[in-house]
Amino acid sequence: MAEPAGRGRAWHDRSVRKDEGAATTSAELRAHNLARLLRAVHDGGGRLTRAELTRQLSLARGTATVLVRDLAGRQLIEELSSPVGVPDGLKVPRTRGRPTGVPSAHPRGPVALAVDLRDDSFTVAAFELTGRCTVLDRQEREAVSGTGMLAEVAAKLQVHRREFGDRVVGVGVAVPSPVSAGQMVQPTLPDWQDLDVAAALGAAPGDADEGLVLVGNDATLAGLAEARRGVLRGVSVALHLHVATGIGGVLLAAGQPVTGARGSAGEFGHMPLTGGTDPCRCGSVGCWELDAGARGLLRAVGQPEEGDRMVRAEQVIAAAATDPGCGQALERAAEALGRGIGALVNAQDPEAVGLSGLAAEVYEAAPAAVQVGYLATLMRFRRAAPPALLSSTLGDLGALTGASELVFDAFLTPRGLGGWPAPEEKTA
Ligand SMILES: [Zn+2]
Repeated sequence: MAEPAGRGRAWHDRSVRKDEGAATTSAELRAHNLARLLRAVHDGGGRLTRAELTRQLSLARGTATVLVRDLAGRQLIEELSSPVGVPDGLKVPRTRGRPTGVPSAHPRGPVALAVDLRDDSFTVAAFELTGRCTVLDRQEREAVSGTGMLAEVAAKLQVHRREFGDRVVGVGVAVPSPVSAGQMVQPTLPDWQDLDVAAALGAAPGDADEGLVLVGNDATLAGLAEARRGVLRGVSVALHLHVATGIGGVLLAAGQPVTGARGSAGEFGHMPLTGGTDPCRCGSVGCWELDAGARGLLRAVGQPEEGDRMVRAEQVIAAAATDPGCGQALERAAEALGRGIGALVNAQDPEAVGLSGLAAEVYEAAPAAVQVGYLATLMRFRRAAPPALLSSTLGDLGALTGASELVFDAFLTPRGLGGWPAPEEKTA
């Protein structure tokens, strides 16, 4: 069985779907099937009919009916006549002459709060069971310090926990740092160093009201989101690269992030993939992100690497068409991006490569230069059919979506659902 949903546990410790296959008694089997069905509703984004879910999970029709009724009774789902957002004219197909409903998010059902923490801004959003997202706060950095910004996030979360009451099943937080044991071990802001994020967000030890806070690296979570809801959905082995100030990413096998023994794998930006020798802020030398990404772009135009790096890097991309200096910098950073991707594809043999953040922007702005670098470093036998480079479809919502998936991964288990209050116990 999964470990208790503890405060501050690094999310990678928690084996997703660990409860599957452990059912022995009929009560356990029922709890197991309820979690499987709810998971399938979540994964399907609320677009699959009951008949489709029944087939997908190889359930007997009668069993599915009972399970759906049970989940609806507990306000976990609501069965609609058509998926949310589908016009009335396009009704769900009938099976054997009878209409089949679409299990969807219950209006008073579970909510995952998600935070996208960046060094210059933060966003808080609420996600329903089927992945529908409502952005609640989006704030540019006003506080002088990183800890001041975290205090602001904590205050916002307190408001939203009150607002949603016991519908909140957890908080997922994407942070711009590798994470080890819940701490930011190499953050972009100095006063975040070794900070316990869950503790900073007000989850006091043993305080049940504060609930579960799960923390992950932003690039890893952006990749997880693409595998669940974006361009890497259904891809067997995928490499995802997320470029912000630095370059992070994740290898995903069958949709699951490979995050390493301590949860800090995927620091691809700190590999010497482009042949440089300059020292890096991380302690290594010749790191890829010194040549590609925001740092690479700024270095190529001779700008300092401090301050609002992302904004200035985007300005370089925007000016590339008219300013020859910016154009050359973009070409160089784009080719360096491609070279690194080729090296990583040689190492990991993914089926496709997802790109988000500045990686997607650079690829859109200079696709030919990225391809030149990519094909130059790709081993010859791979060049006939190089893995596709796919720009994110989730955009700014990637890391947030991944953070919400952490929460639902913990919730959509027999143990997680066991903590969901029955309607009569609910206060909100
Ligand atoms: Zn480095």
